[in-house]
Amino acid sequence: MIFDRVAVLDWSASGKPSRGKDSIWLAVADADGLRAENIATRLAAQATLHTLITDSIARKRRLLIAADFAYAAPVGLAQTLTGQRHALGLWDWLAHRVTDTDVNQTNYRQVAAAANSHFTGEGPFWGNGQKADMPGLPRTKPDHPPDLGEYRAAELAGRQGGLWPKTIWQLAGAGAVGAQSLTGIPMLARLRAAFPGQVAVWPFEDATAAPVVIAEAYLSLLGDAVTQMTAGGMVRDQAQVRLHAQAFLSLSQTGGLGRLFTPVQPRDTLETEGWYLGAGAAQVVQSALPRAAPLTPPRLKNDCFALSQGVDWVPVDTALDRLRGVLHPVTTTQIITPSQALGRILAAPATAVRSNPPAPNAAVDGYGFAHATTGTGAQRLPLMTGRAAAGQPFAGVVPGGHAIRILTGAILPEGVDTVVMEEDCATDGATVVFDGPVKPRSNTRNAGEDMAAGAIALPAGHRLRAPDLALLTALGIGTVSVFRPLRVGILSTGDELLATPGDPAASHQIYDANRPMLAGMVTGWGHDVVDLGMLRDDPAIICAALTQGATHCDAILTSGGASAGDEDHISTLLRDHGALSTWRVAMKPGRPLVLAQWNGVPVFGLPGNPVAAFVTALVFARPALSALAGGEWTLPRGIMVPAAFAKSKKAGRREYLRARLTADGHAEVFASEGSGRISGLSWATGLVDLPEPAADIAPGTPVRFISYADYGI
Ligand code: AMP
Ligand code: MG
Repeated sequence: MIFDRVAVLDWSASGKPSRGKDSIWLAVADADGLRAENIATRLAAQATLHTLITDSIARKRRLLIAADFAYAAPVGLAQTLTGQRHALGLWDWLAHRVTDTDVNQTNYRQVAAAANSHFTGEGPFWGNGQKADMPGLPRTKPDHPPDLGEYRAAELAGRQGGLWPKTIWQLAGAGAVGAQSLTGIPMLARLRAAFPGQVAVWPFEDATAAPVVIAEAYLSLLGDAVTQMTAGGMVRDQAQVRLHAQAFLSLSQTGGLGRLFTPVQPRDTLETEGWYLGAGAAQVVQSALPRAAPLTPPRLKNDCFALSQGVDWVPVDTALDRLRGVLHPVTTTQIITPSQALGRILAAPATAVRSNPPAPNAAVDGYGFAHATTGTGAQRLPLMTGRAAAGQPFAGVVPGGHAIRILTGAILPEGVDTVVMEEDCATDGATVVFDGPVKPRSNTRNAGEDMAAGAIALPAGHRLRAPDLALLTALGIGTVSVFRPLRVGILSTGDELLATPGDPAASHQIYDANRPMLAGMVTGWGHDVVDLGMLRDDPAIICAALTQGATHCDAILTSGGASAGDEDHISTLLRDHGALSTWRVAMKPGRPLVLAQWNGVPVFGLPGNPVAAFVTALVFARPALSALAGGEWTLPRGIMVPAAFAKSKKAGRREYLRARLTADGHAEVFASEGSGRISGLSWATGLVDLPEPAADIAPGTPVRFISYADYGI
């Protein structure tokens, strides 16, 4: 079974027009990508499908329509109502009786009651979501008529696989499908009648050659992927139709769809009861989606930050390599649309659904023709009537020796392979004249010359920026799998701290400068900030805050209290409870970098001094958080520029100086290297990064300047 286009329909029996949750959703997947539509009424949905069928037949795109309701009832109903077993007889019976209007008024309850009257006892249909009683339609489940099945074979096959399709008999209540079948079957029957000989309803009719096949779907086969999409904010029904359309199309492309059209049921029952795509074979459908990451990603190893015995001072690059080796993504994934995905990190490669451009087109405004019929010297070609413009293709053929007016972005009409710019032509409206020779295929773009369908557009780990959204959209990529933003807890410690600038302050008190700074940095890196507050130097308080933070953060940044002094409670606490490692990194500014795990959550203990906290956050926290968030290990490259300062640098530590570029592109540094000078951070636009060896820097000596922008802030 091969289709070029798959439409998946989630139906609704609502008594009034409705949108959003539990209304009608239609997703269409084909070479143009995946799109979903919310439709307010059943008749409007029928009209949309009618248009889709007409378009698919005209464009020779074989279409599968899969709608989510039972297409038939268990053996017994059709025979009693119609005198024959075949399900299409039941379709006709319903189509003759069930009415619907353009404001969704329907009589399906009366029809169900009429069906019940054919049975002794109360009959099989039950459930009434309305206030008014309906004679002949019990509100609660009646005694089921003997000799009439409760479930169809396909539903039982689903139940064996742990899914719970409901019976067609139940018309109201959570998950009930009966009302949808009673309103949906007549709609499909009308569509089938509107395209005689073109539409086959499977498995009741032979579907091997029909240009349009209608088959039943059950949209609960892709639970995990749907959950991830709804976590991203999408309505469940929309997520279901999108994912099932994507999966069915992808199975069609890989030749796997045949498995779903192979029911495990004898032919005669099949013609009565039907079968839904994927009954008893949910894993085949699941395997067609890009593999979703596990819902709970693995935690870091408890001792992952431990350094080997005897290691004393660690150079910055060694520390970074070491961190890189032990960190991995700790956040879950979601499936969302490109328009929701700015700043998010891809959890799976994004693959082009469609080529860009999708068809050969014109790169300029001008005249198009077949190159083979042109030569050297003045070329005079008669002009065709009509033109080709973007979005308005020319339907005819351009014969050799003729030209056609063509505008930028227009698909090349049949017969055209070359375009001359209008600036290089003269025309009187009937003939176009230009100088030959022209190069074959000049001023045209090949199909897929930018990117071909199937190519990897962007790799996993890539953080999506505005131009990436243009690329994904152009390539028809309707959904991407991304990591949920990392939740980063931030807390400050110190008895001297005051939270709110402007609050009355005693001379021994200072305002907490680190929390707003770190929160701003973390936000700029695309993570979610969780403010864990400003804490006294009290082990019990800090312990409680870390424990609470660890329940809803993926990582925690602390500042202050990280050395080995009397009041350095962070170090003490982490050592006692949290698998602490103190890395004595050979850098300035920056006291020891404290790395630990608190109940499995990585904690980065930054120095209290704002200058040191800033620099250590840039150098270590930024790549570390990126790796935890599922992103690339990003290190800034910087640029080599002449120094505008002199400095005699001692050997041993890597130094980061607050710096900015002068008008002529030299790096000047802040007047004081004092680590208390917060104003220098603000004065600067970047850092000068001086490697570990001793150096005599004079004005003009090349130094590495790394802008704040290069650090992602
Ligand atoms: P600590 O690492 O706790 O010994 O702090 C080192 C220095 O940084 C001390 O002068 C602290 O007062 C100062 N400091 C610590 N935390 C902050 C903060 N959140 N805002 C401003 N200064 C701080
Ligand atoms: Mg302190």
